[in-house]
Amino acid sequence: MADTDVVVIGAGVVGLAVARRLALAGLDVMILEAETNFGTATSSRNSEVIHAGLYYDGLPLKSSLCVSGRQMLYEYCARRNVPHRRTGKLIVAFTDQERGALDKILDHARVAGVDDLELLDGAQAREMEPELACAWALHSPSTGILDSYAFMLALLSDAEQAGACLVKRTGVSALSRHRDGDWLVFIDGERDAVLSTRLVVNAAGHGACALAAKTEGLDRNHVPRGYYARGSYFVYHGPVPFSHLIYPVPVPGGLGTHLTLGMTGSARFGPDVEWIDQLDYSVDPSRGDLFRAAAGRIWPGFRPDLLQPGYCGIRPKLGGRGAPPSDFVIQGPSAHGLAGLVALYGIESPGLTASLAIAETVASQLGASR
Ligand SMILES: Cc1cc2nc3c(=O)[nH]c(=O)nc-3n(C[C@H](O)[C@H](O)[C@H](O)COP(=O)(O)OP(=O)(O)OC[C@H]3O[C@@H](n4cnc5c(N)ncnc54)[C@H](O)[C@@H]3O)c2cc1C
Repeated sequence: MADTDVVVIGAGVVGLAVARRLALAGLDVMILEAETNFGTATSSRNSEVIHAGLYYDGLPLKSSLCVSGRQMLYEYCARRNVPHRRTGKLIVAFTDQERGALDKILDHARVAGVDDLELLDGAQAREMEPELACAWALHSPSTGILDSYAFMLALLSDAEQAGACLVKRTGVSALSRHRDGDWLVFIDGERDAVLSTRLVVNAAGHGACALAAKTEGLDRNHVPRGYYARGSYFVYHGPVPFSHLIYPVPVPGGLGTHLTLGMTGSARFGPDVEWIDQLDYSVDPSRGDLFRAAAGRIWPGFRPDLLQPGYCGIRPKLGGRGAPPSDFVIQGPSAHGLAGLVALYGIESPGLTASLAIAETVASQLGASR
């Protein structure tokens, strides 16, 4: 007899969504989290944007899971009173080249099933946002924002009410197979602490590739290499005249330094893209000039002295600088051949938006119907 039906490794938004989904399916779920609380890594270091699903040309999982996850997320937030707002967003262009990028986004969005976009000229955009500078803008009405902490708290509460249990300060160091087919989960730093479980989900974010390398029987060809791309935010300590999120056209590695609004009315610019070799959550104040230039371009009334270093998140990338964008990897038994194991890699943006849809995919790969 295994100790539990499922061990979910990692209590970020994805691990919590998966744990909730599997607990609601009637399984006995244990969530193991290395840190002192849930959601302290990438899940609390992002833009908190509910993405519409505009950008993921050639990346079928990101594209489809963002669109379906966004619909599920709006419904969930409304049902569970998670603070959120359908702000809409404007992606702005100044040059002919950038206008071409808007056309590409528009084309892909239609293919992805996002058919509510509207291309505006500068005057039309300024009817919506009088203080905005741009020559053209793409309006996405289904983009929004949410309180990501409240969302994770709601997921955890659902999971716990369905019987799941979160164990903090409990890192997993390795996985191996028991001869009866169950999985053995080895706890970091505890020589004799081993749990047995029928099913395992590796949702360890930045730790996922390292743990996969210590998963007995997993062919190394199925273990991708992880890279880090830091995205810093600078906070604007003053009122902003915008009600929409304002984005530039995307840049390699990210969506461009945008203006995001928080649920409490705060405003921040970011994230930029900085390739780093190790996890390091410090924000370099000297990058402020790049942010001031980006902000001043879209908002002539912007006051540079009110912008201060804020926080950063680190994208769990599957390709390094210059590599083409990669898709989410959700690897179940049909991909790697090991029964009862699903591993998730490269869950960068739009992972928050897609989390509920990712959980459905994991449940289906584990054969856990409701
Ligand atoms: C700068 C930035 C901006 C973003 N903006 C958005 C956005 O606006 N909208 C959007 O939809 N998405 C956004 N994202 C993406 C989104 O934040 C992530 O996709 C999502 O948070 C990933 O969640 P996760 O649970 O996979 O990972 P994480 O939140 O990193 O959780 C993984 C957890 O696993 C734990 N862990 C690691 N190793 C172990 C181990 N061995 N044993 C036990 N526990 C372990 C960690 O402590 C951590 O708590 C952004 C990401 C970044 C970096």
